Amino acid sequence: MPKFVAYLRKQLTNQSKYPTLMCEYVHNCHVKEITDISNYFDIERQLVNPTANSSPLGKPDQEIHMKNGSQIARAFLNFAGLIFFIIAASYISNTLWGGKPEKIEADTHLTYSQEMSVKTFGEENNLPTEITKSVFGLSSKEDLMKTVGSFNMDEAMLTEKINKALALYAEEDSKDWQKIAAKFAGWIIFLFVVFRMTRKKQIHPGSRKVLYLASIILFGVILGADPSAMGTIKDAIALYGAKGVIFPPRMVALTVFLLMVFIANKFFCSWGCQLGTLQDLIFRFNRNKKDTKGLLPQYKPPFMLTNTIRITFLVVFTIIAFVWARDIIEFIDPFKIYKLSALTYVGWMFISILLIVSLFIYRPWCSLFCPFGLAGWFLEKISIYKIKVDYDKCVACGMCAKACPNGSMEAILKQDRAIPDCFACSTCIDTCPQEAIDFSKGKRTKPDIDKFKGLSTKNIAE
Ligand code: SF4
Ligand code: SF4
Repeated sequence: MPKFVAYLRKQLTNQSKYPTLMCEYVHNCHVKEITDISNYFDIERQLVNPTANSSPLGKPDQEIHMKNGSQIARAFLNFAGLIFFIIAASYISNTLWGGKPEKIEADTHLTYSQEMSVKTFGEENNLPTEITKSVFGLSSKEDLMKTVGSFNMDEAMLTEKINKALALYAEEDSKDWQKIAAKFAGWIIFLFVVFRMTRKKQIHPGSRKVLYLASIILFGVILGADPSAMGTIKDAIALYGAKGVIFPPRMVALTVFLLMVFIANKFFCSWGCQLGTLQDLIFRFNRNKKDTKGLLPQYKPPFMLTNTIRITFLVVFTIIAFVWARDIIEFIDPFKIYKLSALTYVGWMFISILLIVSLFIYRPWCSLFCPFGLAGWFLEKISIYKIKVDYDKCVACGMCAKACPNGSMEAILKQDRAIPDCFACSTCIDTCPQEAIDFSKGKRTKPDIDKFKGLSTKNIAE
């Protein structure tokens, strides 16, 4: 064993090759527990002298603890600074171009009589002319003088038609179409750039944080809470439940988002979603410089548990939307951190908890609640591009699985049936000492049956 320690020490003089060499050495020696450069000191201490209170290479424990303490303090400062910045900048952005509030209006009760002219009916009920025309199917100005009774619609039928038309009118009227067009154009350009970087393995801990921050500023602070991928599903269910109508532009947006998942895994969620990137950046604040493990412990809850909660939440949300015409996500919608005027006290509390939890659990909203997260998880199984491992190069060191912020890489390596959401975050690509992982087209290949038998990250992002 001393020979082994001497070998490891020697490699420290060559930092660039160290992880690879150590990994190969570890693999060949079958000393599987040593898989990460960052736990080298602890392991060497155990090997050389388990009772020693100073670290190898002359670094006393106290110095290491102080360094950790300052990193943790910096993580909390970064967290507080980011939230302060988002709140302040979103306030300014909302004041300048916040747009109209989006909400589903209560049903209108009509002033109605069979003898009224259509024109009078519209005026009495304050209906926009285009709604009166579309509900009665008018083709000329003269038709406005016909009586309501001549259209063979009783009061109940007319009320239902008017309320549906008003709901669609309100949806259209509340949207800032220029901003929406700018946001989709921005998404396409931004995601294309990040996609190329991912393919070329150019995403590293520093650039990852910069890209997340850019996404937050661009698609959250500047371009606002809406539209969002989550909103396309949530609002579609809420509107249909309350009014029985579908807003066609929303379906177009949802199709575009799903298409993005189909092409490139949960690439949109990873880099484009204004809430996903916010949670991700916060999670990365609480990680070491190499972005491989938490400064304070980070947990990987079992996927079966988180996915069951996510499915249950969607079912409950849908039932309440259809039976009671209520949108329960509206009260806690964390996207509203970019639209402060729409936040309730409950919303503030929920978002505060969610963002603090994000330091310790990877993307809690995405894995526990988001309806689009769930839809994306189903669809990512047939994505064209996905994270893949070349098992000829892979030496089964398990570094990627440990660095992966959730359990997806471990499940990929072990060929589990249910693989948690892979956000194509590139952490595993960047961590693999053998450069055996990439983001490429085609099906995942399978490793030898025993290759990862003993691998376990014990539900803790170490
Ligand atoms: S899963 Fe997360 S990243 Fe994806 S749409 Fe939902 S909130 Fe955004
Ligand atoms: S497997 Fe894990 S580390 Fe790799 S891209 Fe997916 S989520 Fe990120």
